[in-house]
Amino acid sequence: FYQPVVWSADGSLCGAEALARWDDPDFGLLSPVSFISILEEYHLIHKLDMAVLETVCRDLRDALDNGRRIFPISINFSRLDFELLDVASELESCLSKYSIDKKYIHVEVTESMLGDANANLTAALNKLRENGYALWLDDFGSGYSGLNVLKDYSFDMMKIDMNFLAEFPLNKKSEPILKSIVDLAGKIGMNTLSEGVESKEAYDFLRSIGCQRLQGYLFGKPMQRSDFLKKILDGTYVVSEKIG
Ligand code: C2E
Ligand code: CA
Ligand code: CA
Repeated sequence: FYQPVVWSADGSLCGAEALARWDDPDFGLLSPVSFISILEEYHLIHKLDMAVLETVCRDLRDALDNGRRIFPISINFSRLDFELLDVASELESCLSKYSIDKKYIHVEVTESMLGDANANLTAALNKLRENGYALWLDDFGSGYSGLNVLKDYSFDMMKIDMNFLAEFPLNKKSEPILKSIVDLAGKIGMNTLSEGVESKEAYDFLRSIGCQRLQGYLFGKPMQRSDFLKKILDGTYVVSEKIG
């Protein structure tokens, strides 16, 4: 499935996140929450993540072949991917197979996987950035690790955990906390994206504090590629000319 990501400035589409779904013949569509941890437990998650990468590259190639403007897609990587694979070379070979420029792939890693990071993981993440991939820090502030991750790693984007928007605007602490996070990110050269934007009030507030990108049900739930495509073709989503 794909979920749209928009520029807060004008609401145009700046990207999408690829989110896995398991289509089970008996149970129907399963949420990743019910299968990601099991795939991790059985050391199979890298197979899913590489299948998602392949699907994304194939879809981007199809769009290009049909003359459509493409935009970057964020892909979720698990910590185990970095232990079981050479992620940089997997990316290189998949992108070259479909002739896709690396600027169209954003690599998302969660804050939680960096908590007790080892030298191999740090080296693998640095290698990705050196190779020109945008590295996105997912679920920032979800509490699994401290602010240290900001000091110890270099990321292009901070995805602010959607929990900060829970009970917005009733919880009076949400606004100053979000503003401080966006300011902090700016000071250390990171861009920001807020997840879980569900209301116009949250949208207006996040735009006013300079959070550049937004993702959430207000703009669209994760959807099948065919539905996403329909909404691009019928003008529901206007693809931005600015790639970032
Ligand atoms: P995530 O990376 O933080 O993805 C965002 C999750 O928030 C998605 O859940 C999305 O449906 C949900 N969401 C988006 N906007 C809103 C909103 O406005 N309100 C609310 N309440 N929820 C919103 P989803 O698709 O169930 O994915 C759950 C998690 O599973 C993801 O969290 C990600 O960590 C993991 N995941 C999904 N696909 C993959 C994958 O291909 N590989 C790996 N390793 N993990 C994946
Ligand atoms: Ca994510
Ligand atoms: Ca997230």
